[in-house]
Amino acid sequence: MGLRLRLSLILFGTLGASFALSSFFLVQLEIEAGFSRATGRVEALMEAVAPATANWLAEGRASDIAALMDGLELRGEVFALQDLWILDAGGAVFYSLRDEQGRLPDKAFVQRAVAARDSVTAKGADRSSGRVSMPLQTGGRRVGTMIGELSPEIVRERVTNRLVRILVGVVLVSLIGFLVAWGVLSRFVIRPLTELFSLAESWRQGDFSPRAPVRYGGEIGVLADVMNAAADAIEKNRETLEEEVRRRTAELEEANARLEHLALTDGLTGLYNHRHFQEVLAQEITRQSRARRPFGLVMCDVDHFKNYNDTHGHPAGDVVLRELSRLFLDNIRSSDVVARYGGEEFVILFIESTRADARARADQLRALIAAHDFPHKDEQPLGCVSVSMGLAMWPDDGASAETLLKAADEALYESKRHGRNRVTDARHADGAPA
Ligand code: GH3
Ligand code: MG
Ligand code: MG
Repeated sequence: MGLRLRLSLILFGTLGASFALSSFFLVQLEIEAGFSRATGRVEALMEAVAPATANWLAEGRASDIAALMDGLELRGEVFALQDLWILDAGGAVFYSLRDEQGRLPDKAFVQRAVAARDSVTAKGADRSSGRVSMPLQTGGRRVGTMIGELSPEIVRERVTNRLVRILVGVVLVSLIGFLVAWGVLSRFVIRPLTELFSLAESWRQGDFSPRAPVRYGGEIGVLADVMNAAADAIEKNRETLEEEVRRRTAELEEANARLEHLALTDGLTGLYNHRHFQEVLAQEITRQSRARRPFGLVMCDVDHFKNYNDTHGHPAGDVVLRELSRLFLDNIRSSDVVARYGGEEFVILFIESTRADARARADQLRALIAAHDFPHKDEQPLGCVSVSMGLAMWPDDGASAETLLKAADEALYESKRHGRNRVTDARHADGAPA
């Protein structure tokens, strides 16, 4: 059940209960008051007519009494009278307003009234019937008694009429009260709470951007302030967190890239390493299996490198290896691939190339290296830092990576065997220099 419905039920229930209770007491009070009013009027009437009636009674002037009573229009509803009797000193009926037979009401009351010196009132069990008596005296002598009987119908009708008016008024006032209370409750409690609930609902959906209006006072205002502050803090934390995640992700990506680079390259020369070269070669074979464009693979080994290391030290040898790598990179095409295959061995892929072209370019590289001004080059056995190369063409000299590498390696061995600082084509790997 929603807050609005619950509050309206509480309000309506409370107002309904208080209306029922106050109506009950009002009805009781009004019944009492109605009876008092009716007897009061009758008493006043009796008091007014008692002196004249007493005189006429003493003189036996029944017609004057009847004229007076008729003149007062007692038969109408003004005095709510059912009947009116005038008894003589002996208690016998001298005059009766309605009952021609002159039958008296309730004997016990008549006895009490005749005996009483003052006015006597008796109330019926239904609280709308009753009797009033008044002693009749003249010249200090008791000459009779006047008894009036209330008309319960008229008394009830008057009470009912008044009650209906009063209750309609009470209902109208309660209704207005309910509407005003509802309006105030709605404006100052229900609407603010509903807005705070919808705020909480958007939090549940993960959206912390809406804010509670700040126009409320009191506890709801404090609640709105606290919720706004909480949303601010959560949003700020979330931004900080997202920023941190972005930063960490960037760091991680960078680290991954570095790691990947490290996994692919050789630490000394920065060229691709042996493992990665194997992958590139496999990919190239797969690629060219469809395109069928031949490519050349060159195995390259530094000549007399042990001698260089032994003579000038390992660090000097490293300088040569790095310098060689730079020369390779600077002098191959961007589509070609060069890698460090092992200690002082390199391997080059001349992508999409003919045998003649590959052989020419390998020899150009060889010549470039032999002519390069490496430190201590003159102290090498050949008077320069040189490399020996073996060239094998895919697919003619080997269709698989293994056979192609083997063919190039054999060609390289031939270059060594024939004096180094030369390129051997696998097709002429019988010893004849390319
Ligand atoms: P050959 O002309 O027959 O190839 O003779 P070589 O001396 O070059 O051949 P060998 O296989 O006897 O020696 C290769 C040397 O390469 C041995 C080793 O010290 C050196 N070498 C291998 N890797 C490195 C390296 O990373 N740095 C240095 N400075 N030397 C290396
Ligand atoms: Mg070697
Ligand atoms: Mg060598």
